[in-house]
Amino acid sequence: MIDSSLKQMAAALASKRISSVELTQLFLDRIDRLNPRINAFITVDPERSLTQAKAADVRIARGDAGPLTGIPIAHKDIFCAKGWRTTCGSRMLDNFIAPYDAHVISQFDQAGAVNLGKTNMDEFAMGSSNETSYFGVVRNPWDLARVPGGSSGGSAAAVAARMAPAATGTDTGGSMRQPASLCGLSGLKPTYGICSRYGMIAFASSLDQAGPMAKSAEDLAWMMNVMAGFDARDSTSLERAKEDYTRDLDRPLAGLKIGLPKEYFADGLSDGVARVVQEAIDQYRKLGAHTVEISLPNTRLSIPVYYVLAPAEASSNLSRYDGVRYGYRAPEYSDLADMYCKTRAQGFGAEVKRRILIGTYVLSAGYYDAYYLQAQKIRRLIAQDFVEAFKKCDVIMGPAAPGTAFKIGEKAHDPVAMYLEDLYTIAVNLAGLPGMSIPAGFSDGLPVGLQIIGNYFSEARMLGIGHQYQQVTDWHTRMPEGIA
Ligand code: GLN
Repeated sequence: MIDSSLKQMAAALASKRISSVELTQLFLDRIDRLNPRINAFITVDPERSLTQAKAADVRIARGDAGPLTGIPIAHKDIFCAKGWRTTCGSRMLDNFIAPYDAHVISQFDQAGAVNLGKTNMDEFAMGSSNETSYFGVVRNPWDLARVPGGSSGGSAAAVAARMAPAATGTDTGGSMRQPASLCGLSGLKPTYGICSRYGMIAFASSLDQAGPMAKSAEDLAWMMNVMAGFDARDSTSLERAKEDYTRDLDRPLAGLKIGLPKEYFADGLSDGVARVVQEAIDQYRKLGAHTVEISLPNTRLSIPVYYVLAPAEASSNLSRYDGVRYGYRAPEYSDLADMYCKTRAQGFGAEVKRRILIGTYVLSAGYYDAYYLQAQKIRRLIAQDFVEAFKKCDVIMGPAAPGTAFKIGEKAHDPVAMYLEDLYTIAVNLAGLPGMSIPAGFSDGLPVGLQIIGNYFSEARMLGIGHQYQQVTDWHTRMPEGIA
């Protein structure tokens, strides 16, 4: 059962072969057994989860179950869930109990899904390895000496080790696609504005987007049917008709035009990843797709632009953690200013402080024009690159990350090396486009993801493109050995 798809789990629940309480307990037991080694969860609350499972069983018995009713789902600890401790991976929110639900959480609640627990993450979603978490590193189930990627590394490790059937994540610059790649999972960052940011703790608001992480593209589609949708409480939420994200799963790929950006197959890409990605593209050719070379000339500017804009937004968003309203407060201080300083000095970790310093600097009166404004202009050019590219192709394919999972500690003290992990993902956030990573093979025994980038609102088609590949390959079914 732990290896089943969401569809198979829903069928098992519907036919009463298993109850939601039993299914939830099965995963809680695995968490009990495996989490001490992997550290994918910050908070589990079996009593709360099982209460939801009991309610789901009642719904199923009444005959009013939806597709995810009774299925346990893990949530990145960036989503406020009423009554649950919600830390965002930070000491600042170590003891914060959310007084309300994020929109995404209430969507899962209404669907009757069970909240299985809150997953570990880089502090305030800043990082690519999960090493910046106040709650300790997460270990990659494929090799416990390696990182799972980040910032949604806890969600990725939880699903990879089959401690959860699926999980939510967020992606500001690559935080779902890169850990999906490093852990052998499927992960989708939707078009900006598809999933409400209400109750999702803000990092860089113009880039942050929630999405699903799961074993297969089909599971992602099932998750999207619950997560996506308009919410008036998020001013950037898009008012669009409800979509069925499973609608293109069976659509054939004959005639599909795949764009291959030459900048994505250049310096910086490891040989092992390049080989796996090329093999995946060959497989797509066999399925009837053809390829065209395209260019995204501003790719090399995406990391510098992001590291001006994201810290700028973060410095503003994180000003709310002042020790007054909620979260951590320094125990000893002399006056109000001293309280602010000590609270923030003690409550935030090094990477978060680095971002606040950069962000405050680039927004300061003397440097705003030179950095922030310039970066905004280049952001526009980066988005324009994709507009041009999509005149020549239906989707873009390339690597999701430049390499495979790296060793814990290997890049922790080299911020630039860490930032380069998002070389192929960040432009997608800057443009607000949807991007997905699916398992495409292995290099030296470690998973490698294929990234698929679509035009705005093409999620259903992208999921179909992923699903068709997963009908003829079995990479997405592989499970880490040694994690029993
Ligand atoms: N790795 C990037 C960063 O550190 C992206 C993180 C994310 O997508 N949340 O900011």
